[in-house]
Amino acid sequence: MKPETDVVVIGAGNAALCAALAAAEAGARVLVLERAPEVESGGNSRFTAGAFRCVYDGVDDLRALMPDLTDAEVENADFGTYTEAQFFDDMGRITEYRTDPELCELLVTRSRATMRWMQALGVRFMPIWGRQAYRIDGRFKFWGGLTVEAWGGGPGLMDSLYRVARDLGVTIEFGARVTELIADDDGVHGVRVRQDGRTSEVRARAVVLACGGFESNAEWRTRYLGPGWDLAKVRGTRFNTGEGIRMALAIGAASAGNWSGCHAVGWDRNAPDFGDLAVGDGFQKHSYPLGVLINAKGERFVDEGADFRNFTYAKYGRAILAQPGQFAWQVFDGKVIPMLRDEYRIKQATRVRADTLEGLCAQLEDVDAAAALATLRAFNAAVMTDVAFDPNSKDGRGTVGLATPKSNWANPLDTPPFEAYAVTCGVTFTFGGLKLDRDARVIDADGAAIPGLYAAGELVGGLFYNNYPGGSGLMAGAVFGRIAGESASNGPPLEARVSNRHLTSTPVAVAHPRAAGGRSRFTRGLADEPSAAVR
Ligand SMILES: Cc1cc2nc3c(=O)[nH]c(=O)nc-3n(C[C@H](O)[C@H](O)[C@H](O)COP(=O)(O)OP(=O)(O)OC[C@H]3O[C@@H](n4cnc5c(N)ncnc54)[C@H](O)[C@@H]3O)c2cc1C
Repeated sequence: MKPETDVVVIGAGNAALCAALAAAEAGARVLVLERAPEVESGGNSRFTAGAFRCVYDGVDDLRALMPDLTDAEVENADFGTYTEAQFFDDMGRITEYRTDPELCELLVTRSRATMRWMQALGVRFMPIWGRQAYRIDGRFKFWGGLTVEAWGGGPGLMDSLYRVARDLGVTIEFGARVTELIADDDGVHGVRVRQDGRTSEVRARAVVLACGGFESNAEWRTRYLGPGWDLAKVRGTRFNTGEGIRMALAIGAASAGNWSGCHAVGWDRNAPDFGDLAVGDGFQKHSYPLGVLINAKGERFVDEGADFRNFTYAKYGRAILAQPGQFAWQVFDGKVIPMLRDEYRIKQATRVRADTLEGLCAQLEDVDAAAALATLRAFNAAVMTDVAFDPNSKDGRGTVGLATPKSNWANPLDTPPFEAYAVTCGVTFTFGGLKLDRDARVIDADGAAIPGLYAAGELVGGLFYNNYPGGSGLMAGAVFGRIAGESASNGPPLEARVSNRHLTSTPVAVAHPRAAGGRSRFTRGLADEPSAAVR
């Protein structure tokens, strides 16, 4: 490993690689240091389906991003739009208007251009035919604002990013765990890294932290998310233990965002403690809007049809963790089984099947079967069967008179076979992290940028609170990764750093969502505001 370079990027997931590519494009020498061995590299990003939430004003934007789209495919699909205003609305509503307005604005307004940048570099995209659209009368209709995925999912995305990085001359070191930032009053000058049992130093004019949240650290989960979170399973990499956050806080960085919040979903009850790359995201069970969830007491406990899956799945893991025994069963009948997502058909699924509801309830391990049967019968009786079922829209086919309602897509469970799937809580990533400015510079506890230190990806705090719109993680990582890489490559050379710190740091106006306009800022849509705010 060379002891000196221009930009060191810590981590080798999507955010890190986007930072590395942007810095390399700008002419910087870039060294990527990844803690995992090469066979386990790619971070959480490799575990994903590669779904990106990005702005498009119509099919022309999608065609520009996916030139492989054929005329027949376009004709047989209703892609709708996902405008900046829609993205802002979703971010505001889903985060209860707590999202940092500046970070949110960058995410939304840079999403389309960042996707085009990735595509121009060689990342291929395609529509999410299988998971975000139901085919009705021969036509696909996309819903939930999530339309684009990387070709080959997370593995395809990471393979492309690694290939492009190498083509651009980026060096990637695996099994290289960064343990410390080299910093003084003038900022950050490099890192200490441990590889093959030896610790060495790499000096650099800029360091980009892109090494994930603290989801894989059971102790920190318990400390910050709360009691019981040590019992959750981790959906992805075992290497995201909060080290980037720790290193930055140790040199005075400010913490930001929703430290008690995280993204967590329904995940197979018998899945391993950490993700398995051979299964990828297959342990998730995201078709619950088509069925009902039953806990150990035989009771329902969430509105399975409160909104499209994209807008509820990331908070329902927490709801499952709060149930007795930290598990639930998802129950479906023969009418919807053909509509279940592909992850329901993997051989590792914890599934029971029966021809009657009684027979099914008797097989629900650790559940009060009599109570479960009574709950399912009460549910069946409460369905508004006079309202038409339409999985492509929020159809309003709900229940009447139940303490826990189901608001959309309610169907009586009356058609054999009946199937149930056991799920527990799978944590995806944590929401608390570091404070950034618009140039992806890490801000210190006094509100000044720390010279030479940038960040992107999961460890950025302030974007997501309590919940999360699906597909925003990769998009945020790409947007802020690109900004961080550009900023890092533009920083002053190492030797030119002046000791007078204020000359290289800019105070940051702390923008509170409410002070900055709160709800009205989102309902109006920042897209309508002067584009001067956008770099
Ligand atoms: C199963 C699953 C499915 C998902 N599906 C989607 C999806 O379809 N769409 C979406 O938008 N999001 C999805 N997500 C969320 C998404 O994975 C993350 O938001 C995003 O990938 C995070 O990217 P990142 O680059 O910040 O982190 P990561 O991709 O996790 O990369 C961080 C890297 O840093 C390395 N690292 C950690 N500590 C150190 C250290 N001390 N030194 C060196 N390296 C270190 C890690 O080994 C890791 O490789 C999913 C997540 C999971 C787990």
